[in-house]
Amino acid sequence: MPYTAPIEVRLWNKISPEPNSGCWLWAGAYGGSPDRRGYGQIWWRDRRRMAHRVAYEVWRGPIPDGLQVDHLCRTPECVNPAHLEPVTPTENVRRSSIRILTAEMAAMIYKDARQCWRIADEHGVAEQTILDIKIRRCWRDATEGLGPPTWCRRRRSKVYA
Ligand SMILES: [Zn+2]
Repeated sequence: MPYTAPIEVRLWNKISPEPNSGCWLWAGAYGGSPDRRGYGQIWWRDRRRMAHRVAYEVWRGPIPDGLQVDHLCRTPECVNPAHLEPVTPTENVRRSSIRILTAEMAAMIYKDARQCWRIADEHGVAEQTILDIKIRRCWRDATEGLGPPTWCRRRRSKVYA
């Protein structure tokens, strides 16, 4: 496909739709190294760019300055604009740390009586993630029916001491 073809056509030629997930898997070139593959790549407007960002710009619109494009489907190979959302780098990190936990870990965290920073340290996630689990802003399914969360008591006694 010559580079002079419209960008929509060039994208479509490298997309392999996955019928179950609805993901549009990138079948073109990838960045990164053979053992650690990066994102799909495509030349556009004189530069090599990340294919999912190009797909977003072409079919949904410009990505605001400084924002990263997060995969809501958790599939880095996907370029389906409906599965993509521009987020701040901070939000992207927060979401990544939600990803590495399992439902079992989330349930344990919910009932962990230690200080949030200690729990966060042990699991290698942001302290905000621990708070988010306890206030049930994330991992709601994992903590369903567990009753109220367990909070660290020491902090409270410090306040009333
Ligand atoms: Zn997807």
